[in-house]
Amino acid sequence: MNLSARILVIEDNPTNLELMMYLLSAYGYEPLTAMDGLEGLEIAQRQRPDLIVCDVQLPKADGFEVVRRLKAEPAFRTMPLIAVTALAMVGDRDRLLNAGFDGYIAMPIHADDFVKTVDGYILIELLSGKLQHSR
Ligand code: MN
Repeated sequence: MNLSARILVIEDNPTNLELMMYLLSAYGYEPLTAMDGLEGLEIAQRQRPDLIVCDVQLPKADGFEVVRRLKAEPAFRTMPLIAVTALAMVGDRDRLLNAGFDGYIAMPIHADDFVKTVDGYILIELLSGKLQHSR
């Protein structure tokens, strides 16, 4: 599926960032990247991506702060914000969803699951007419 949308990946681990960028590009998405929470917030506000994939443990502002600050703005309320985290304890999923994340991808990243999850959220945006950069 090629849904051509802009995806911001906020991730401080270069290996994970590279993998996610590679997968998104390979499947026709346009990836934007940030390596800490503050840079992520700045790029989100400036570039208005269609979806954000955000690591939880990040320098400067962690994923919880990123989601709190973005979801406080009307412009970002309907934009999917997906957490990516290695945390695997029971209850983390609820903690992430309660914080305002729309979904959750567990690390390590599995190529198929990662792309299918992103495709799913982008497809919902497309069908509801909310995709900001549909071409
Ligand atoms: Mn991290």
